[in-house]
Amino acid sequence: MELNTFCPECENGIFLHEMPKAGLIPCTRCSKGREASGNGELDAKGALVRCGICGCTDLYRQKDFNTKLGLWVVVLIVGLALVFNQYLIPILIGGAIVDLILYFALGDIVICYQCRGIYRGMPVAEKIEGFDLKTHDKYEFKTKKTEEPKELL
Ligand SMILES: [Zn+2]
Ligand SMILES: [Zn+2]
Repeated sequence: MELNTFCPECENGIFLHEMPKAGLIPCTRCSKGREASGNGELDAKGALVRCGICGCTDLYRQKDFNTKLGLWVVVLIVGLALVFNQYLIPILIGGAIVDLILYFALGDIVICYQCRGIYRGMPVAEKIEGFDLKTHDKYEFKTKKTEEPKELL
């Protein structure tokens, strides 16, 4: 598995290859890092149930679509179409098929609503659904609410 998060202090990306243990995940750029709850949970199939960073159980799935790779495929197809323009239509159709195959070949990633931690390379539990704005707002609101008193001081 791979876990992507970021340092709240300097926003440097933090990559982990196992569930974080309770305590500070050190940041390689600044001397601080991100605090992890360390109570991450996996189900019997190894799918994520509880986020190991913040302990949140609200998670959503998303296609692990590498935008850079997608862009290169488009550039390649357009390039081919320009060079072999007598085969324009078959090349464009072929390109669309390649895009479609790529889309389905890519796995799902799981993202935590609360801390935005990204979990890759592990099975995704069936009950985890796509992004839900209501759940997202619930966490946005919660964070804003806890931040407010600080601003008043
Ligand atoms: Zn940092
Ligand atoms: Zn989390």
